[in-house]
Amino acid sequence: MQTGKINVQTENIFPIIKKFLYSDHEIFLRELIANAVDATTKLKTLSALDKFKDEHGDLTIEVILDKENKTLTVKDRGVGMTAEEIDKYINQIAFSGAEEFVKKFKNKTEVEQGGLIGHFGLGFYSSFMVSDKVEIRTKTYKKGAGSKAVNWECDGSPDYTINEIEKSDRGTEIILHINEESNEFLEEHRILELLNKYCKFLPVPIRFGNEKNWEKSETEKDEKGEPKEIEVEKPRIINNSNPLWKQRPADLTDEDYNKFYRELYPMTFEDPLFHIHLNVDYPFNLTGILFFPKVKKNFEMQRDKIQLYCNQVFVTDSVEGIVPDFLTLLHGVIDSPDIPLNVSRSYLQSDSNVKKISGHIMKKVADKLEEIFKSNREEFEKKWDDIKVFIEYGIVSEAKFYDRAEKFCLLKNSEDKYFTFEEYKAKIKDNQTDKDGNLVLIYTSNPEEQHSYVQNARERGYDVLVLDGPIDNHFVNTLEQKFEKSHFVRVDAEVADKLINKADALPSKLTEDQTKQLTELFEQQVNKATYHISVENLGENDIPVTVTQPEFMRRMKDMSAMGGGGQFAFMGNMPDSYNLVLNSNHKLMGQLLATEDQETKVSMIKQLIDLALLSQNLLKGEALTGFIKRSVDIIK
Ligand code: ADP
Ligand code: MG
Repeated sequence: MQTGKINVQTENIFPIIKKFLYSDHEIFLRELIANAVDATTKLKTLSALDKFKDEHGDLTIEVILDKENKTLTVKDRGVGMTAEEIDKYINQIAFSGAEEFVKKFKNKTEVEQGGLIGHFGLGFYSSFMVSDKVEIRTKTYKKGAGSKAVNWECDGSPDYTINEIEKSDRGTEIILHINEESNEFLEEHRILELLNKYCKFLPVPIRFGNEKNWEKSETEKDEKGEPKEIEVEKPRIINNSNPLWKQRPADLTDEDYNKFYRELYPMTFEDPLFHIHLNVDYPFNLTGILFFPKVKKNFEMQRDKIQLYCNQVFVTDSVEGIVPDFLTLLHGVIDSPDIPLNVSRSYLQSDSNVKKISGHIMKKVADKLEEIFKSNREEFEKKWDDIKVFIEYGIVSEAKFYDRAEKFCLLKNSEDKYFTFEEYKAKIKDNQTDKDGNLVLIYTSNPEEQHSYVQNARERGYDVLVLDGPIDNHFVNTLEQKFEKSHFVRVDAEVADKLINKADALPSKLTEDQTKQLTELFEQQVNKATYHISVENLGENDIPVTVTQPEFMRRMKDMSAMGGGGQFAFMGNMPDSYNLVLNSNHKLMGQLLATEDQETKVSMIKQLIDLALLSQNLLKGEALTGFIKRSVDIIK
């Protein structure tokens, strides 16, 4: 037997490893299994190159839990190590790597630590986070002198022992003697949970104990003479070593993708809308599959569903900074050995490689959408209402995405017809241009509630867009900046006649004096802080009184309600204000002025105001009760 001291510069890093890295102890298992996978992959490569000539046999990696002896073992049949290699890779290199990591780690804030530890860096020595003692039993694939099997042992002090042992099969066993505080890692369900989280798609089969399944027996029959269902125990392989993203898209069907989707998200029952298979090898290496999920109402809840892998090892499901923000709403996997994982998040966001990757993913997504749009517009339109939020979000947040999306982004009108931007502009060009030559796009944010306004606008021959999504406020602002000489106006911002400011105004049937009188009469019946009375010369057949909500004010309020609004943020706290527009040319206005009986006059005014409020959903509570009572009286 030989003993030695690990080459330490920091007096004793083990206590530091244990104390400082408290947040993420569980990653030790990922590290050990990743090493086992590396050793196995190396052996396969040697074998393929004919540098290892024996049969390599079953390469399954085993995770073995021994609760009685309080050990957890990771066993592989990879290349193994010689005594010399242990000295080099474990005693020296791995240790200095771990030491350097701890040094960096100590000077970081807790938040930055969180970013670091989740990623690679600590390697083999992370096993001391959970162990009193760690043993390595290993036998190299090499033959000849110096290839004897060895045992290395260390109890968490800088002293280790190393000695020759008898070991029949090639490969490495890492035996962890789990410490008192970490006994959660002696629980089967906990290990299973970790294996499922980190190892689900590793390229080498990983076995953890056995599992029982019901199967039809080949020999035994039941009473009916059918093969009997019997319980059989089989090795439990926890991973799918050939995940879909590593396969060729040409070999896969939609059903394969949907199945894989459920493998990734076992709790999801709905199929995704469609997928995008990523496969890049220049200027960086990246594979993956992104899914467009069916969105729930509250799309914010859907974030953090993309899983990031490094050579099939799970790294994180927080991909902020790696994919464009709007794509974090997608689901799926991204696998790249080229994303620097052992660095902090802020570094990641400024890394030029990461920026390229992000840009590339966005381009791929846009290409795929355009392809579906071009090849099958009908299908695309059917999915539009579901995918619209992703695309609008992209348009609002990424200028580069707009440049691509403007070809396939659709606008839907109140007749459920879909148009591209170009198509729509051409459609309304003749009828919806104002006196200054600006295109006016009229929209409703709620076709139900704004029904009468939509109706009125449509009777004018105007087209009305439906923009009722959760971010359509922002979307409208963005389009207004992008489209030349055009603006958007919500259908209830003005009386239908004034939605588009045309030069030809109708003459009034009232004298100036009568107009003033009318204004005063209505003013007496409303709260002046909320309602501003104006008189417009509309058509005889237009409704006599309309409530409108001026576009600018409303938008500012909407924006500040969503936490934006900039210098107008204060408006979020202001009470709502509306215009009450009187149609001077409606017959009733003349009649009203001519009415002698004071009581009848007031009752008429109140009725007209209430009807207008009713169409904006503003008539509530006591006012609504009063209206119903008055209406009944009129019928009587
Ligand atoms: P890294 O994997 O980043 O090199 P680790 O600390 O995880 O760092 O491992 C250090 C070294 O120990 C590895 O590079 C490898 O040479 C060796 N090693 C660790 N585990 C095994 C194993 N199961 N089989 C063979 N070699 C191993
Ligand atoms: Mg490693």
